[in-house]
Order: sequence, then C-alpha cells, then structure tokens
Amino acid sequence: MRALVYTGTQELVYREEKNPQATNGESIVKVSASGICGSDMHAYHGKDNRRIPPLILGHEISGTIDKGKFVGKKVILNPLITCGQCDYCINGKEHLCDKRIILGMNRPIERQGGFAEYVSIPDQNIYELPRTLEINEAPIAEPAAVALHAVELGEKELSKPLKDSQGLIIGAGAIGLLSGLILSKVKHCKEIVIVDPNKKRLGECSKYLNANAMSPDSKNIINNHFDIVFDTVGMEVTRKQAIQAVKPGGVIIHIGLTQPSGSFDFRKATLQEITFIGTYCYTNKDFEKTLKILSDKKLGELNWIEYRELKDGSSAFKQIHNGSCAAPKIILLI
Ligand SMILES: [Zn+2]
Ligand SMILES: [Zn+2]
Repeated sequence: MRALVYTGTQELVYREEKNPQATNGESIVKVSASGICGSDMHAYHGKDNRRIPPLILGHEISGTIDKGKFVGKKVILNPLITCGQCDYCINGKEHLCDKRIILGMNRPIERQGGFAEYVSIPDQNIYELPRTLEINEAPIAEPAAVALHAVELGEKELSKPLKDSQGLIIGAGAIGLLSGLILSKVKHCKEIVIVDPNKKRLGECSKYLNANAMSPDSKNIINNHFDIVFDTVGMEVTRKQAIQAVKPGGVIIHIGLTQPSGSFDFRKATLQEITFIGTYCYTNKDFEKTLKILSDKKLGELNWIEYRELKDGSSAFKQIHNGSCAAPKIILLI
C-alpha cells in the first residue's frame, strides 16, 4: 500500500509499505480521510518519545471496512485502544487506562496510523459513520471529542452555568476552535475571547466562531476576569497568561503538550483557589456524544477544514510547521 511515513525529524516520505494484516477481533479499514493532529506535529518535530521513526502517523481516521465483520460499511475510528479490563476501563474512564495506546504510535507497542491506504483496528473501536456526516469531514470527530471532554471537565468545576460564564481560549488551532464552537454553540457560553499570535489563523477562526479574537498581548484581555480559561497550547508563556486571566475561584483547562515544564504562579493558584485541570483524550461516551453533535450539525459549517492529498502530506506538514497555513485543520485524503 502507499503510505506517508515519518522517517526522521521534519521528514516524511510517501512510499510503498506492507499492508496491515487482520488479526482476531480486528478489522482492516480502507482509509478515506486522515487528519493531521497537533500531536503528529509534535512527533514531526522529534519531540514525542511515543512516536519514534520510522512510523506511519495519523489517528483521526474515516474509511470503509475492507476486511472484518462489517465489510463495506463506512466508518469512523476511535483511535484510543484500551484494555477493557482495568478499573479505569470498567468505570468509564478508558482514556486513563495504563495500557492505552493510540493509532500512529510505536511506544510502548506498535500501532501504525492512518496516513496510509489501510489501517488495522480493534472492532470495538469502530463506529458507523452517521448518515449526515461527510466521510471526508468525519476525522474531525476525534479532536472534537478531545474538546468536548475538556469543556465538560471544566463545566463540572464551575460555580455557575457556562451560559453565565466568561471563557478565554488560548490558541486558535483545531482544539482551540473546537472548544470555542462547543462552548458557544452547544453550551451557550456568555462571552468568549480567543487569542493567537498567528493573525491568519485567528482571522480564519473568527469567520466561524462567535468570539472576540485578539492578539495574546492585547490590552483588552483583562486580568482576573475569566471564569474558565483553556490553554490549548501548553507553553510556559500561555500558562502564565491563563493564570493571570482567570478569576478567583476559576478554572484552567490545560490541553496543550508543547512545553511540559516551566514556572507557574502557584501563589495566585493557592490564594485565589484556582482549579487547574490537565486533560487528555476522551472517554468512549464522549466520542459517541461527539458523533451525535456532529451528525446534528451543532457545530455549524466545517468549511474551515482544508484538504490535501496524502501524497502531498509532506508539504502540508511543512506549511503547518512554518505557520503559512491559515486553516486550523488539514485533512489528508487517500
Ligand atoms: Zn488528535
Ligand atoms: Zn484499561
């Protein structure tokens, strides 16, 4: 099969690879569309010790079953594979399973990803594509599930409903935009501010999201003002902005993995009782809920997604890397 293979730091090669083999309880999916995630970019930069080259990246995947139980069915994949037996799995927190692995990773065990013509996947990770969802748009379900999970974790901790709350989103990438769309269109958040230094991206997001879009250094971002702050970048400087902007008693949702350490204002966090929540992935229930939100068209037009062919994947990665791409999400079509 043809595949886009991550072969070294900032290096992707479109080449011939062995087809995946179907094993017990798994199916082979002929991939239609596969989204480029921030975590794929992280790997591309050589900064992910769970994704070591050579490896086929990609975990936001839709396609058609080629071999397995439901041959011919159009599907969307939940790429988070878990053991199904531990305390977390039994209690609906599959994403915390210590045997968890995502497609497109090879540590601790290998699971080739979706930037290829075919991918193998356990049957329980396969969801039928909702009829109202385009197969090429469907990979957006995965990052949307990440965003829904994050928004609902924050919602639970807030002292008042989201419809009466002010939210700040740091980062206008896919997770930032999707968190904003869920806050605004599903949860009817009272006021949303979104910040990003990349003006192109910010401009693109403002076409679809009802929010005040501004540069992170804008004087209009008021300190101690926001009930809930989403740091979708995860750098020392964005965490600094988050803790400055959050209200006493407020909530910070930390989704980004860009810079795992650095200084942080623990004094304010303590004196002002700030709730800081790290979040990763989603539960199976979140994934199902997200499919419903998308099939009901609750997030509006998805025209902010850009599409490229798999064979041009390497240049798509380059464009995301150098910031020349305005789209918050690029999906590769196979
Ligand atoms: Zn992802
Ligand atoms: Zn488990």
